[in-house]
Order: sequence, then structure tokens, then C-alpha cells
Amino acid sequence: MNGASKITPSHRGRLALVYVRQSTLVQVREHTESTARQYGLSAVAVELGWAPGGVVVIDADLGVSGRFGEARGGFREVVSRVCLGEVGAIFGLEVSRLGRSSAELTRLMELARLTDTLLIDADGVYDLSNANDRLLLGLKGTLSEAELHLLAGRLHGAKLAAAHRGDLRSQLAVGYVYDEDGQVLIDPDEQVRAAVEDLLAEFARTGSALGVVRVFAEAGRLFPQRAWGGAWAGKLRWGKLTYARVLQAVHNPAYAGAYTYGRSHEQRRVQPDGTVRSSRRKRVRADWTVTIQDHHPGYITWQRFLDNETKLAANQTKAGARPVREGHALCQGIIGCGVCGGRMGTRYGDGGRIAYTCQIKDSSRTPACRTVAAGTVDDAVGVLLLDAVTPQQIGLALAVSDEVTQRHTAATVPASWPCNAPNTTPSGPSGHSPTSNRRTASWPGPWRAGGRLGSPRSPRPTPRW
Ligand SMILES: [Zn+2]
Repeated sequence: MNGASKITPSHRGRLALVYVRQSTLVQVREHTESTARQYGLSAVAVELGWAPGGVVVIDADLGVSGRFGEARGGFREVVSRVCLGEVGAIFGLEVSRLGRSSAELTRLMELARLTDTLLIDADGVYDLSNANDRLLLGLKGTLSEAELHLLAGRLHGAKLAAAHRGDLRSQLAVGYVYDEDGQVLIDPDEQVRAAVEDLLAEFARTGSALGVVRVFAEAGRLFPQRAWGGAWAGKLRWGKLTYARVLQAVHNPAYAGAYTYGRSHEQRRVQPDGTVRSSRRKRVRADWTVTIQDHHPGYITWQRFLDNETKLAANQTKAGARPVREGHALCQGIIGCGVCGGRMGTRYGDGGRIAYTCQIKDSSRTPACRTVAAGTVDDAVGVLLLDAVTPQQIGLALAVSDEVTQRHTAATVPASWPCNAPNTTPSGPSGHSPTSNRRTASWPGPWRAGGRLGSPRSPRPTPRW
């Protein structure tokens, strides 16, 4: 071994650390040769005079990807053991790649110099108290970082070019398969195709991801999933349809026949303790890197996909949307907390009790945020409303609403969907609400009475909403 004379009894009297790492599980699985060579370094340490009991293998980072040492417990252990002065030498296949960045390597080199720890790889032994060795190792570290950067850049460039042509293969959504030429085809498996078609059709019908889940669950239907990678690669598994999977499917432009790339990107954040966390963030549609419409046969049209996205956004009550929901409470979905300004949810209790409750949970919640019986608020709002509107205004509003409903029904609801029948059947004197549902089907008293609206002031009606 080159420079073996630098190893002294003082080094041999301390531990020899063999640091084994592969950065991803795929690498661990597919590059067994490299892993075997790394473990073989233990034998090299023994050949160089360390007692077998004095050789410690640190492989905690096998399959841990991380450009930052903080994410890798094994690397931290190496550093802390070096600091304790219990290490005589660190072995690695390429010492200049012990750290994932030259900053990490520089820090390790400095600690090794202070504690008289040798770094050993296939090229030889580095003694960090020797200026030449330090320079050489520093240079190699910089070169290897540059090499990684160039390689990554080249790979990324090639990937991007393929993506722009729509040729970059990726994990296909269930319901699609690649043919021998790499073209995307609708899955020839009849059951798979039917499951995907039914999911999308149910979403069109119910307009809600939870509605789709419910329909599948009630019918005891399962949904297919194709495993990706590993021993199960390509195998089909049937499981319960979950809310998350419906969202995934409805948000996936592949079902509209579009090829896309760059729908999300990695975002790194430095935590207060200096560690770096990365997460994937979705991009808005306009910022997707590549979108190629009519790339392959679709289950739905592009317009339907856009409509679905709009529908999902309108369902997002957490993001501030206010879809009309079932329930008798008058101010449901439109009432805010007078104390903190947050939105109030509606709670239905036993015996028909209804309450509005402040839903703010974070630090903006104040001790005065509370729950209020719906009747208290609704009665007051009802009185104000009846004071403000005239029977003529109400008549006009109902007529307009009727017309909108009729147009909506004619435009979007095929007669073959029997489940829409309850919603389109007039449920009140006007039949004006396409979104009213089973729970509001019996029209509240004062409105049904009709005539009472004409004399709102004497005596004042007490609306029972
Ligand atoms: Zn509040």
C-alpha cells in the first residue's frame, strides 16, 4: 500500500473505521459489487496491522440518500468518533468521496489532522499533518465534487431533452402500459380499464373525491395498483380505493392523454438548527416544464381534466372555498369568528342541536374563540334578512335560480345518470337549488308557508332553519 510507512503503532492502537455507503436503495440493490468491495476494506485494515477486533464497520448510511451530512447518521458517527480521538484510521473506497460536499470533507480532514487520524483508500494512506497529503486530498475532493456536478448536469440535460420530446419514460399511471416500442397504451386488461373509467365517471357524477370512495366502498369494489421497482415490479395488486388515490387520479393529466414533466420540484429549507430538509412541491399548471397534449389515448378529454381540477379546487374548504353543503344551519359555510376572524365550522349534535364553532387551531386562536348555538345566530340573521328583502326580490331571485338550474341540468346531466335525479327534482316551492340534498329536501317552515313572507313584520316570523 502506497504510504503504508505512515501508519504507526499509535494508529494501530486505536480503531480502524470502515465507512460503507451507497446513497440509494437502488444502488445498494444493483451495485452489490461496490458494497462487497467496501466491506472488503476490513480485510485490508487487518493486513495493514490492525487487530480484527479493532476494525469497526459503519454502514448506517447504506441506502440513505442525502447531499447533507446531517441526514446521514453514519457519517455523523464517524465524525464524532474522530473527535473523541478513538480512531487511528478511516477506510473508504475513495476517501475524497467520504463527504458529499467538499465542505464536509474539509471539516473531516481538519478534525483528522487535529486528532492524528489517517485517511486510507485504494490510492494510499493520507496523513493530514502532512501539507502535501492535505493538498492532494483537498484537490481530489474538489475534483470529485466537480465531476459529480458535471455528471449530474449531463444526465439532467439528456433527461430534459427526452422529456421535451415526450420520450422520457416514467412510472405510468395505472390503466396505462408501455408497448414494445415504448408507446403509451391503454391497459389491455379489461378489469383495470373498467376500474379507471368508473373512477373518473363517478367523479364526474358525484363531483367529489370522497363521493367516489364511498361509491366504490359501498359496492365492495377494489382498485388496481401497479408496483414499481423491486421484486414486485410490474405486478398488479388490487386494494381499497382511498381518498388520496382518487385525488391522484383526478389530478393526473395522463388520463387526459397528456404527457407532462416537471409537475413538482424539490425545495430545500435550512432549519433553525442548521440541518437541511428537502420536500417536493407541486407546481401550478402554467409552470410545468413539459406538457404535450394528445400524446397518448386518454380516458377523458383535456377539457374534462381542467373541469375536474376546477371542481376539486372548489371543494377545498380548507383553502377558503365555500361549496354549498348539506345541513339545516342558515349560516353554514359563510360565518366567521368575530374574535379572531377565522372561519367557523358547523357541528350537528344529538337531538338536532346545531352549533357554529371557531375552527382556528394555531397560534391565532384566542381564549375568547368559542362555540355558539346556531339558533342564536340564525334567528338574528333571519330577522335582519327579512327586514332587508322584499317578497318581490325573493320572487325574482328564485326565478333566476330556477333558470340557472334548468340550464345547468340541460347542459351537464345526461338522463342516463339516475343518481342525479334527487338533486334535480324540485325540492321546494321553486325547486331552485341544484345542490340542495336529502337533508334539506323538506323546505323550512317560513319559506314553505309562502304567505308569511308577505307580512314579515307583524308578528315577526321565527324562522326555524
Ligand atoms: Zn376564533
